[in-house]
Amino acid sequence: MYDFVVVGAGFAGCVLAERIANDLKKKVLVIEKRNHIGGNAYDYYNEDGILVHKYGPHIFHTNNKEVWDYLSRFTEWYYYQHRVLAYVDGMYVPIPINLNTINKLYNTNFTPKQLAEYFEKIKENRQEILNSEDVIVSRVGRELYEKFFKGYTKKQWDLYPSELSPEVTSRVPIRINRDDRYFTDRYQGLPKYGYTRMFEKMLENEKIHIMLKTDYKEVINSIEYGYLIYTGPIDYFFDYKYGKLPYRSLRFEFETLDCEKYQEAGTVNYPNDYDFTRITEFKYLTGQKHNKTTIVREYSAAEGEPYYPILQNENIERYKMYENEANKLKNVFFIGRLANYKYYNMDKVVEQALKLYIDKIRQ
Ligand code: FAD
Ligand code: UDP
Repeated sequence: MYDFVVVGAGFAGCVLAERIANDLKKKVLVIEKRNHIGGNAYDYYNEDGILVHKYGPHIFHTNNKEVWDYLSRFTEWYYYQHRVLAYVDGMYVPIPINLNTINKLYNTNFTPKQLAEYFEKIKENRQEILNSEDVIVSRVGRELYEKFFKGYTKKQWDLYPSELSPEVTSRVPIRINRDDRYFTDRYQGLPKYGYTRMFEKMLENEKIHIMLKTDYKEVINSIEYGYLIYTGPIDYFFDYKYGKLPYRSLRFEFETLDCEKYQEAGTVNYPNDYDFTRITEFKYLTGQKHNKTTIVREYSAAEGEPYYPILQNENIERYKMYENEANKLKNVFFIGRLANYKYYNMDKVVEQALKLYIDKIRQ
């Protein structure tokens, strides 16, 4: 008999299992269909001994001190600030677009004030920001939109930015100063010994049992429990009764090279060249010293693991039908990127899990 069953051992599932066992002192069963804990943030040492992220590069960043302090109970940090270059017009320039990007791209010498005036001149006026194209052209105009966003988004989503809701490209800011960090959150870094080690620490409690390689539907009817916390895809939970919620997937191509360093930044984006969207070199992120280096190329895919909810109005409407069903269930909580069909970063998932625990579970 378990007080709680948690489906999924990603950030959402691990935070809740940890709180319920350590704080509430109740028994938890975590059911995970993969052969490891950690969800999409899972990392491991590859055969050359280099720490890599199995499901693509994960950089932790947050402005929420409570979230940072909470995770800091389970890990020390490697203080890393992510920098990204974009390969545009045969040059490697920093992205988010900032003063250095424009000065390098156009061989200009703008000051921040001059750049603000320049953007003012080239931007397209929009009464309303209705989609991800509007977000960019209303700030920096069509030419920069085409160089940095149009091709990348088409590759990543097989949709043009005009077909996606504004929050997709809004994730990437535009700056007039020289700050070339990808994120500007107050707290940034990676767990010093890896995400997986951090999750192991979170789940280190005899009140927590973990069942790997198990789809919860195969076993749930034979388990006695009080409450269910569900972090898997919400449409699957309801047997797709309102139809499938679409996701964008990715294919990762890892390569280990016999050299210490491959590229000039943690990630290089390729908006207009090649079939992959970006290349990440893990040693930048983890700070690991090694005479070899591992990179990963990301190719987007229509089929495969569900990674990114596709934020279009009809999908969001469909999700709301499922959400409505979910709200009727009194002993099931839906949380996380898949159960809420949201484009959440890791910190947001931790924040929501802690909130759910305090508001609804601890009482
Ligand atoms: P998940 O990590 O997806 O965990 C859900 C778990 O549930 C999975 O392990 C799954 O196997 C399991 N599950 C599903 N169905 C079942 C079932 N039927 N039975 C049993 N188990 C089931 N965020 C950042 O903050 N920074 C980044 O740099 C960043 N980079 C990213 C890069 C990529 C390529 C991707 C795809 C995402 C990135 N994210 C990043 C987002 C981050 O991965 C998510 O916010 C986070 O992993 C979500 O945690 P979660 O617990 O909600 O979901
Ligand atoms: N994007 C783009 N060009 C870039 C970087 C991002 O067009 O060089 C767009 C693209 O649509 C992408 C979205 O902005 O899916 C969000 O980018 P982010 O880097 O946050 O994507 P993630 O890391 O979540 O894959």
